[in-house]
Amino acid sequence: MEDCLFCKIAAGEIPSNKLFEDDRILAFYDIDPQAPVHFLVIPKQHIPSAAALTEENGPLLGHVFATISRLCKELGVENGYRVVSNVGQDGGQSVPHLHFHVLAKRSLAWPPG
Ligand code: AMP
Ligand code: ZN
Repeated sequence: MEDCLFCKIAAGEIPSNKLFEDDRILAFYDIDPQAPVHFLVIPKQHIPSAAALTEENGPLLGHVFATISRLCKELGVENGYRVVSNVGQDGGQSVPHLHFHVLAKRSLAWPPG
């Protein structure tokens, strides 16, 4: 999608600090980290948010979560992690392309603000 920041990152038109990439997804470090480990996982396909997901996206989501689990092991995450997908204005979404935040290596408060 034109003028979508994460589509441009997925296409390599804007550089990112990549952790993993395949034909369907890209994992890269967040530019403004909120934890010692903070990376994002995005589908290469433009999906505006988790609110736009359908049953057909099940395999993609399984791939996203399996990749997150593997990357956390590779990064030495031992005490758990948080996966967050902000949706819309009240959810705090600032980039309208589906992404999963992965935060780790510090104790995370609950409930979030
Ligand atoms: P959200 O506010 O949930 O939509 O998350 C968007 C995230 O993208 C924020 O945590 C930003 O720090 C991050 N972000 C914005 N631009 C970039 C970029 N060029 N590279 C990496 N992360 C980015
Ligand atoms: Zn996009």
